[in-house]
Amino acid sequence: MPHVSDYELQLLPTLKQYFGYDSFRTEQQHIITSVLSKKDNLVIMPTGGGKSICFQLPALLFKGVTLVVSPLIALMKDQVDGLRANGIAAAYFNSSQSSDEQQDIFEAIHHSKIKLLYVAPESLSLLEHIINEQYISCIAIDEAHCISSWGHDFRPSYQQLGFLKSKLPNTPIIALTATADKATREDILTQLRIPNAEQSISSFDRQNIELEVRPANDRVSQIIKFIRHRPNEMGIVYCLSRKSTEQLAEKLQLNGIKATTYHAGLNFEKRHKAQEDFLFDKTQVVCATVAFGMGIDKSNVRWVIHYNMPKNIEGYYQEIGRSGRDGLPAYALLFHSYADVIQLRKFAEGTTNFDVQIAKLDRMKQFSEATTCRRKILLSYFGELLSDNCGNCDVCKNPPELFDGTIIAQKALSTITRLRETEATGVVIDVLRGARNATIVDKKYDQLKTHGIGKDISWQNWQHYIIQLINQGYCEIAFHKNNALRLTAFSKKVLFENETVKLTKPLVLTEKVTRKTPVKKLLSTTLFERLRQLRQQIALEENIPAYLVFNDATLKEIENERPLSEEEFLSISGVGQRKLDVYGTAFINEVKAFIDSKKNSKKKSETHRVTYELYKEGLSIDEIAERRNLKSTTIYSHIAKLYSEGKAIDIYDFVSKPEVESVKTAQQELKSPDGLKPYFEYFDKQLDYFKIRLALSIIAKDS
Ligand code: ADP
Ligand code: ZN
Repeated sequence: MPHVSDYELQLLPTLKQYFGYDSFRTEQQHIITSVLSKKDNLVIMPTGGGKSICFQLPALLFKGVTLVVSPLIALMKDQVDGLRANGIAAAYFNSSQSSDEQQDIFEAIHHSKIKLLYVAPESLSLLEHIINEQYISCIAIDEAHCISSWGHDFRPSYQQLGFLKSKLPNTPIIALTATADKATREDILTQLRIPNAEQSISSFDRQNIELEVRPANDRVSQIIKFIRHRPNEMGIVYCLSRKSTEQLAEKLQLNGIKATTYHAGLNFEKRHKAQEDFLFDKTQVVCATVAFGMGIDKSNVRWVIHYNMPKNIEGYYQEIGRSGRDGLPAYALLFHSYADVIQLRKFAEGTTNFDVQIAKLDRMKQFSEATTCRRKILLSYFGELLSDNCGNCDVCKNPPELFDGTIIAQKALSTITRLRETEATGVVIDVLRGARNATIVDKKYDQLKTHGIGKDISWQNWQHYIIQLINQGYCEIAFHKNNALRLTAFSKKVLFENETVKLTKPLVLTEKVTRKTPVKKLLSTTLFERLRQLRQQIALEENIPAYLVFNDATLKEIENERPLSEEEFLSISGVGQRKLDVYGTAFINEVKAFIDSKKNSKKKSETHRVTYELYKEGLSIDEIAERRNLKSTTIYSHIAKLYSEGKAIDIYDFVSKPEVESVKTAQQELKSPDGLKPYFEYFDKQLDYFKIRLALSIIAKDS
């Protein structure tokens, strides 16, 4: 039997040859060495942390087969396709295969032709005759938390896995999961009968995911803007109800966004299609309930939006973790609303562990309302302490400004008092703002002394302030009394003892251009785009998801490094021997073609094209001008030129039809003069130059 140290020399070469990577991530090497020395292991790593290599690489070095127990067929298929793309002999076994197919697999095992065999726990009994130490050299239990009824994905079929250790006492077991809590961990060890397994718990920090929480006002248009700023980036929007996934997808489609729906109420074909379309980059957005995700290994999900608040932090973290698995920047946007909190409380009512669920919901709420680094809060929930603020969340990037909000607090609290603590936030705000709707008039609230004392503050800002008062304990929601706002012991201090209340200013709600593409880079993004298209074409030919050809991180590196020889190509992270052999030429040629085309068109790389790229990203004229450090009028002249060239410009966003008509009249009366000035004078300087220019380009194009 080979000794561990024999393996040690092979680790890095094997990693490069088959997976294309030059080094291990923290923990990976240690775990792999431990597995190779035949110890049992429990690996806790966040989604995207790189668990798979921890058993796939040892599998290549062991003599026999590594049996991988995995809960979902979709997940298995994806992993097997990925392994094969790397030139690794892998297969999956399930009951839906024909007996011929199954026989082929057994044959391959007998002749040591398979390194990894994926199987669902339900199908293990069909493999009985090969589950012995003659064939099996290692057992990996993926998504191991499914074994525990404590966990959130309990699967009864996982509970019979204990027999594996009894039957193969000398075969190392490696159990892997992204669920960290202690009860689940202990359950896994007990049930798999591996009490002495080495445990490695990796950091749960996913620094590449930017975190943001926004109030849930006008969510749909915020989401549309968000997506328009990211035209080539795929993402998931999680909604609480099936109905809202459908409604949202429809609205996105109406706005020209390729969106689809996924929830447990759809039949198998529809769900399968939604998932495939997403994996194969045929759809940009999936509007889904939390039913969507477990089978999603897609590495280039760039963002996750929570349309509704998740019911706990575990769920939230797992869902946002589906973005940015390739390590490139990703974005998690959560919409926070009190209506959601109330809804989630209702769901929790009547369940056996109500208290636990409410406690978890409270932590979720605290996270959403945080005025300190959100990542710190998130990680502390998982028992991990960050010493510095993360710098990559909305609070870090935009620290809230505190001001003396005592008067505001007094107004709100005295209104709550006068309403005898019987009304929910909405009515309280209506009274503060002096509304005279039916409820207010019927209940004679317009006669209260505080009616209208908060007119100067907008509805949304009142909402923002009241949320903060609740957070700071100055008032509370009586969930069992129609969510009425009630006073607390702290209220008195504000009302009668003049305690100072600090509030944060509301943020102005505009879609920020958060990840600016430097203007200089825009022209070179075309190489990435060309590489992306080449990847897509190969993926279609091979019928595998594009990210299995190369993930985005690898494409980015090709874009930056521009490899022109096989040797250079092999040095790219993510390029192993097989991928060099089968894709190398195509990608190198694409890079060469790009460089040549750049040489030819260098003179033609006109500035208005850069404007067009930014326009397509959804930036306004002023934003483009600011980004490019040019005048708005210059940008308008680009827009006119682009329109003349036939580019997709919504020209009437900038100039109205009547204005175009009047310019047309002017043109006739002035007998088509040169330059714009005659027009400007003609309109008594009342029509902006840029509008004249745009109108003329429309007239020229139409004629
Ligand atoms: P998990 O199963 O923990 O969610 P994966 O095993 O799917 O994560 O790995 C996530 C991504 O990280 C994959 O794209 C994988 O290829 C990549 N990866 C894993 N290990 C390394 C490494 N040592 N260097 C670079 N990338 C890696
Ligand atoms: Zn932060």
